[in-house]
Amino acid sequence: MAEPHTTRRPRSMARMLRSALILLGVLSVALSAFGAAFLFHNAFSEQVDRDLARTAAAVAAGYESSGTPAPEDLARYDLGSLRLTLIAPDGAVLFDSLTDDPAALPNHLDRPEVQQALAGGAGQSVRHSETAGMETHYYALLLADGTVLRLADETSNVWSSYNRVLPLLLLACLLIVILGAVLAAVITRRLVRPVTRMAEHLDTIEADVPYEELIPLAHTVQSDRKLREDNETMRREFTANVSHELKTPLTSISGYAELIENGMAKPEDIPAFGHRIHKEAKRMISLVSDILQLSELDGMSKGNAAQNPPDFAPVDLAALTKEVAGAMTMNARKAYVTLQYHAAPAAVQGSRDLLTELLTNLCDNAIRYNRPGGHVELSCGTGPDGCPFLCVEDNGIGIPQDAQDRVFERFYRVDKSRSKATGGTGLGLAIVKHIAALHGARIELKSTVGTGTTVRVSFPRE
Ligand code: ADP
Repeated sequence: MAEPHTTRRPRSMARMLRSALILLGVLSVALSAFGAAFLFHNAFSEQVDRDLARTAAAVAAGYESSGTPAPEDLARYDLGSLRLTLIAPDGAVLFDSLTDDPAALPNHLDRPEVQQALAGGAGQSVRHSETAGMETHYYALLLADGTVLRLADETSNVWSSYNRVLPLLLLACLLIVILGAVLAAVITRRLVRPVTRMAEHLDTIEADVPYEELIPLAHTVQSDRKLREDNETMRREFTANVSHELKTPLTSISGYAELIENGMAKPEDIPAFGHRIHKEAKRMISLVSDILQLSELDGMSKGNAAQNPPDFAPVDLAALTKEVAGAMTMNARKAYVTLQYHAAPAAVQGSRDLLTELLTNLCDNAIRYNRPGGHVELSCGTGPDGCPFLCVEDNGIGIPQDAQDRVFERFYRVDKSRSKATGGTGLGLAIVKHIAALHGARIELKSTVGTGTTVRVSFPRE
């Protein structure tokens, strides 16, 4: 069982969408409001400067047209909010429309626009006003007599333009918050509805994926379901097979025992009946131990033992081959089969017990599915590709082509009666396949009916 994940409360999609929408709305409104105010203010400033220059030129023309201009003449010009100043070349103020006593004003020679005018004929500048939120635009013009005529206009500065849009901005933000919440709720509902529908119809999940981004999820769900169904089918078939396999010997044991119990067996038959009971019980024992072995192997591969095997150590395949050949000699002899081995030095990282089981099962089959006078050869070594291998070759009955893939399935037998008669459980090759997988080994089966079978297990290169 996998470790349960620590449960974390899932985030709300509606809340995330709402925040994103609101952030986007507020940002775009603020940026466009500030951008518009800035552009507008720039255009407005340019306009003010242009107007000042034009008015200054007109005033200068009027003033100079009198021939002998006197500063006091400037009082004639009513320029509204514009301030008109006349400055002597030394900076002294000769006239100022805001005061009757221009001499009291400070020297204006340091003013940038005055300096520009003295140097180049005209000058302009913008300065902060003393009044908050205002700025003053100046335009200065050098007159023919060397004095400088200056016009000033006080306008609101860019910050006060912003201040003016601020309430509107706040109102827009409020609207965006409300709109964002409503939109987020609507969008979430529309986004989620197809997903919910998809989750309700898991059978067709891959065909009905509503968004392409969900294809991997649908794929995982589909394959997970398929795997689960396959596992379930396999488990059911296995249970049915096991029950069936156990029932047959039990029925015969029960039958013979009943005959003896009822006194229906003749005394001379009793040893034969005892022998049958013993044989069937032995069959059951080997079946149960094969099942136990398979379930143990299942547990190992589930626990990812292939990557981190618990008791893997270097195994000398040559020694193992000799040992198995020695142990199987009696069986071979009983079946009138000659058994030989050819053990070249080879070693793998693995479980000695499991590899012994693997080779014993293959050798056992080679003897059992053989003919009197047949021949079995066990061999091991290192292949031309550098991979260590174990090989069992026989010249027995062979396996038909169409059954060659299936013989590794649990309980699959080509010839059921022969398998049973020779003490087979139908699980031997399934166990072989499992052990090979645990060692990362690959199995090659070559067989021709009537000629014989070769099974070769190649291990990964060390
Ligand atoms: P069993 O216990 O029946 O031998 P196995 O899983 O070992 O089960 O083998 C499955 C089937 O494959 C056997 O029933 C037999 O028909 C066939 N088989 C296995 N090995 C050989 C072989 N060396 N020659 C011919 N047939 C074989």
